[in-house]
Amino acid sequence: MKASDILALQNEPACSHNKEEKSGCARPKPGATAGGCTFDGAQIALLPIADVAHIVHGPIGCSGNSWDNRGTRSSGPALYRIGMTTDLTEQDVIMGRGEKRLFHAIKQAIDEYAPAAVFVYATCVTAVIGDDLEAVCKAAEARWGVPVVPVDCAGFYGTKNMGNRIAGETMLRHVIGTREPAPAPSLPGIQVHDISLIGEYNIAGEFWNVAPLFDELGLRVLASLSGDARYHEIQTMHRAQANMVVCAKALLNVARKLNERWGIPYFEGSFYGVADTSQALRDFARLLGDADLSARTEALIAREEAKVSAALQPWRERLTGKRVLLYTGGVKSWSIVSALQDLGMEVVATGTKKSTAEDKARIRDLMGDDAIMIDDGSPKALLGAYKDLSADILIAGGRNLYTALKARIPFLDINQEREFGYAGYSGMQELARQLALTMENPVWQAVRSPAPWAQSKLAGMPVGA
Ligand code: SF4
Repeated sequence: MKASDILALQNEPACSHNKEEKSGCARPKPGATAGGCTFDGAQIALLPIADVAHIVHGPIGCSGNSWDNRGTRSSGPALYRIGMTTDLTEQDVIMGRGEKRLFHAIKQAIDEYAPAAVFVYATCVTAVIGDDLEAVCKAAEARWGVPVVPVDCAGFYGTKNMGNRIAGETMLRHVIGTREPAPAPSLPGIQVHDISLIGEYNIAGEFWNVAPLFDELGLRVLASLSGDARYHEIQTMHRAQANMVVCAKALLNVARKLNERWGIPYFEGSFYGVADTSQALRDFARLLGDADLSARTEALIAREEAKVSAALQPWRERLTGKRVLLYTGGVKSWSIVSALQDLGMEVVATGTKKSTAEDKARIRDLMGDDAIMIDDGSPKALLGAYKDLSADILIAGGRNLYTALKARIPFLDINQEREFGYAGYSGMQELARQLALTMENPVWQAVRSPAPWAQSKLAGMPVGA
């Protein structure tokens, strides 16, 4: 990738940064890759494409850094879960054997697994030694007749978000638009529309909570970039009639370019919480401009909201008034707030480290102008806020798990490593269930009391000792 391409990707016109006082996205600072490098971001965005062989061209450590670190699920092939790497050593670097090893690795992946395509990821080492990924992929594709896609995402290009963008750009350059979709099925009395989702990763299988709603409305999901996706689906994304960007920042470049090249309208939304799920369905109906679809969407929303409201009632009784300290980033910094408020809970503060000005404006809409926003996610700051704001539970990402456990406070994982899917109406019930089970777990009482042996020791001590 040329330096000018990277600079162009750093300046995404559709990103809210460029609607603020300063233009251009944040340039990487030293240490920025500690939260995930560009290679990591590219793998996160593309690894869920389940029938592709994903080969990491570099030292084995890069592969170990990112392999399977998200709970993304597939309804079919599990090829994406097989870690493949060229495992470059110092000897390979010194002897200039990188490209040769890569060529053989592609052959091995095709021979052993017959993948729909092979994606090859660059890493810092192979970018520094100047391996020509593009040329090797082209030669391999010509030799074996399987699409081989170079993903030029060396870690030092920048942050994880940059990796997401490079992944999106790679799909636009090499994959999207290379195949036509099968004709839409005909449903009696319903016009079927084709849609795509961008930035939905099917964490813990949560998109399966929403998929039946689309089926019922006659919305065919051509492709999801990239949760539970197949290579041939991504190829057809240019034929979608409307797109939804499920995460506010990552992959916005894909939605914008699909709009510019193929005129596909898009919106940004979320499937977390009742209100946001309903809004996302309404937005699809609005963009598709189908009056019959709008009427059916409203009927479905009314039915589902009534159903979920009744199902949540017992949980609301247990959760109302509980105070939550939320520390997550981006779109979740506000979408989860709205979900928690639906349950009658009070969000005492929310993390905004990775949030845009637009995200912060949405937080203020939901929590009021005095909303407390936390930028410092250090254990000391989080535990200080938890105590000062008298919170009952910390909801954050997996890296805060041990902070919470050591401090003996209830904790719920909301980020990509989570075990439960919270999207859609039924995801809301799961969220309520997990919140109640976490806070009411007797373990908190037990771990905060003195240990039994300490108690008996105290009881046996002479008075005044
Ligand atoms: S690509 Fe570079 S920054 Fe990323 S894991 Fe590999 S060596 Fe580290």
